Amino acid sequence: MSYDLPEVRGRLTRHKPLSDLTWLRVGGPADVLFQPADVEDLAAFLAALDPAVPVFPMGVGSNLIVRDGGLRAVVIRLGRGFNGIAVAGNRVTAGAAALDAHVARRAAEAGVDLSFLRTIPGSIGGAVRMNAGCYGTYTADVFVSARAVTRAGEIVTLTPEDLNFHYRQTDLPEGMVLVEATFEGPAGDPGALQARMEEQLRRRDESQPTKERSAGSTFRNPAGFSSTGRADDVHDLKAWKVIEDAGMRGARLGGAQMSEKHANFLINTGGASAADLEGLGEKVRKKVYETSGITLEWEIMRIGEADEVAAAK
Ligand SMILES: Cc1cc2nc3c(=O)[nH]c(=O)nc-3n(C[C@H](O)[C@H](O)[C@H](O)COP(=O)(O)OP(=O)(O)OC[C@H]3O[C@@H](n4cnc5c(N)ncnc54)[C@H](O)[C@@H]3O)c2cc1C
Repeated sequence: MSYDLPEVRGRLTRHKPLSDLTWLRVGGPADVLFQPADVEDLAAFLAALDPAVPVFPMGVGSNLIVRDGGLRAVVIRLGRGFNGIAVAGNRVTAGAAALDAHVARRAAEAGVDLSFLRTIPGSIGGAVRMNAGCYGTYTADVFVSARAVTRAGEIVTLTPEDLNFHYRQTDLPEGMVLVEATFEGPAGDPGALQARMEEQLRRRDESQPTKERSAGSTFRNPAGFSSTGRADDVHDLKAWKVIEDAGMRGARLGGAQMSEKHANFLINTGGASAADLEGLGEKVRKKVYETSGITLEWEIMRIGEADEVAAAK
């Protein structure tokens, strides 16, 4: 679709393939990709853009399957100008484009424990929106406030109540773009935090296909919480366990596969389409329901149109 686009200082690209911008390396084009220069540029753009045009803010695409037909929307991707990190006491303020890993490292250097973010491959915008978490800590546990730009172009401050965090979910209104977030973490010794983060990286590499193209956990844990990483962690209602029990570890469809290493990781073995990945996920859900009566819910967000022909219009 073609839209009238306001003048900007940042970069506008029409018909931008999103496969370049997602961890799974699949996805058709966005009608428009907008990379704003700064907050004012973003706010002015959204205020002037026809309110009927859908807007989709995107982080680094580590939790997305963009379907093969792409997105009939303006995709907003923040870059330089949105990735600053500042520490004051136990508070860390980071731009929404800053990577979780960088924020964890900067915080640790300053003696603030945001170490749970170290192994999550997303951006701060994605962490807040998804209430990302691991090893028993969630973004909600350290969140103080965020700045965002509404779809109408207004700059607002969001509190925890506004976001209403729950498991891998928030109430962020559609089209609202997070631009910055402030967290408060417990104090910690920089050396000890560094060692903990290295240990977490090691544990990830041991148990998850970290070198493959994936989007992390495919389905939410039916029990509704993340792995705590502790030895006494219960496995009964972990998604990987019910997938394994359904015999779907390693299952394939086209270039998509449920990882042999971690049964809840959907991977692109090379050449998978979004349809292969989503189709395999749906097969797994069906099989799990048949074997255990559990309905798995997608954790990976699936967006856009399935039909490749639509993208060419
Ligand atoms: C190997 C691997 C391991 C993973 N492990 C974990 C884990 O342990 N725990 C966990 O929670 N997740 C994990 N994930 C999933 C993923 O990294 C997180 O969900 C992450 O928070 C997504 O961030 P992103 O920047 O990639 O967002 P995207 O995938 O680009 O987008 C996800 C959602 O966030 C929204 N969003 C992103 N940026 C903004 C913004 N600036 N303003 C408004 N909305 C925005 C998007 O609209 C979309 O709804 C893993 C993924 C991979 C590939």
